[in-house]
Amino acid sequence: LFPVLLHFILSASTPYNTLPSVLLVGPSGAGKTALLTLYERGLLPKTEKPAPAQTHTSQTPASVELAVNEDGTSSFRDDLDASGSTAKKFLLVDTPGHAKLRRFALSRLRNIPTTTSTGKTSKAKKDSKLKAVVFVVDAAALADSDGRGDSLAATAEYLYEVLLALQKRMGSSQTSRMPSSVPVLVAANKLDLFSALPAALVKSQLETEIGRIRKTRSRGLLDSGVGADDLAATEESDNWLGEYGSEKFTFAQMLEFYTEVDVIGGNVAGDGPGADKWWKWIAERI
Ligand code: GDP
Repeated sequence: LFPVLLHFILSASTPYNTLPSVLLVGPSGAGKTALLTLYERGLLPKTEKPAPAQTHTSQTPASVELAVNEDGTSSFRDDLDASGSTAKKFLLVDTPGHAKLRRFALSRLRNIPTTTSTGKTSKAKKDSKLKAVVFVVDAAALADSDGRGDSLAATAEYLYEVLLALQKRMGSSQTSRMPSSVPVLVAANKLDLFSALPAALVKSQLETEIGRIRKTRSRGLLDSGVGADDLAATEESDNWLGEYGSEKFTFAQMLEFYTEVDVIGGNVAGDGPGADKWWKWIAERI
């Protein structure tokens, strides 16, 4: 009996089943892996220098276990074990930014019921532990955008997909129980580079571009020739991001779907505001 009990205790305490998680998403090259490494290294002794993490290109997500103190005020540089404080642990999960591999991140956000091997339908247990999404943006690349299939368009496209997935997560509940809402931090990264757009401009440019994408997509639905009947109209409103029929898109419209979106600037490398504000944002939501 003892080995069985031991096995049960060990598997029940496997952190990967129980820890709250924060998903790192965003286009390739934005700095997701660099940020993950920074937060992970923050807990290591200063003398130890781990090899820099490789950019994450595999299909499986890389994740690190991190911790904040009970009231969420500790820094990622604090060694919580040494200070003896009660820590809240969580997983920071990196996802591939390449367009062909985004399904992983998007399906986690939708919280779609999955069929288990026994044929029963169940919501993925892990997803109820999803606490937040950090969408990393290269603010320097956005500044270079010139309107020709550029970084702004590509970044906005992915963010649009992420927000629509979260909107559908909140809207598609079959039962009376609401799925947990997932706040989004748009981390305007690389502010150490003088060419980078400040956070306020990153916000307005992304909102404008997402508004443009929204318009294009809805026109696509209407042009398909079924726009006149009711079914198509419902479908259109389901696929419309934010306030239905509104002229301009703003992140604030996501509040209608209980999805908070904040844009905060920072940097992982070089001199600048650093990554402390992002950490604080995350810590407050664990
Ligand atoms: P990922 O594809 O989103 O995981 O991006 P990476 O973490 O691999 O970063 C892409 C490149 O941007 C790397 O060369 C990083 O060193 C660089 N990078 C990441 N963050 C910053 C930053 O804050 N400032 C600058 N100047 N470079 C950064």
